Amino acid sequence: MAIPRLEVRCHGCDYIGHISWKPLAIEYRLPDGRRVRGRCRKAWCFTCDGITDAEGALGRDEIQANMTAPAPRGVLSRLVRRLSGSGNSTHSPTDLLQQEGLKQLAKDRKSGPKCLHCGGQAIVPLEFGSDGNSDVRHHCSGILYLIPVDPDSGPLPSYRLQTMVLDSEGNKL
Ligand SMILES: [Zn+2]
Ligand SMILES: [Zn+2]
Repeated sequence: MAIPRLEVRCHGCDYIGHISWKPLAIEYRLPDGRRVRGRCRKAWCFTCDGITDAEGALGRDEIQANMTAPAPRGVLSRLVRRLSGSGNSTHSPTDLLQQEGLKQLAKDRKSGPKCLHCGGQAIVPLEFGSDGNSDVRHHCSGILYLIPVDPDSGPLPSYRLQTMVLDSEGNKL
């Protein structure tokens, strides 16, 4: 059975990029020794000039919103959630500890979200609307778009979840 490929192209040039299927998790080590699960997301990195995994939102408000908001509905978010098996979240005591840790992280953090590949901050979140277009402009000034795939159809390859360990500023440990 063929594995569906998530292919990204550009309206302005012949760029073709691929989105990795491998699920990735972030674990932050806070200065007080606490370990906190972070969020990662697909992003466009201008330093890498390509698709990358990056840290998710780190602001206090965004973290709060993430806790209460319904899951994002974009095609890519749905796929990534399905791949990482984090579809339904229930608020267990562990989640509350997590929340406290994330709030602490948001308070301490001085830099913005970083690219997990190069550590740069020149990133924009990569998400695609129902028409397949993102709002990311390629260096040719064309818009990046996703070759359509149905996120609910067909088997997905399963990879072991890889965890990246970062300090509270998002540097690899
Ligand atoms: Zn282009
Ligand atoms: Zn990068």
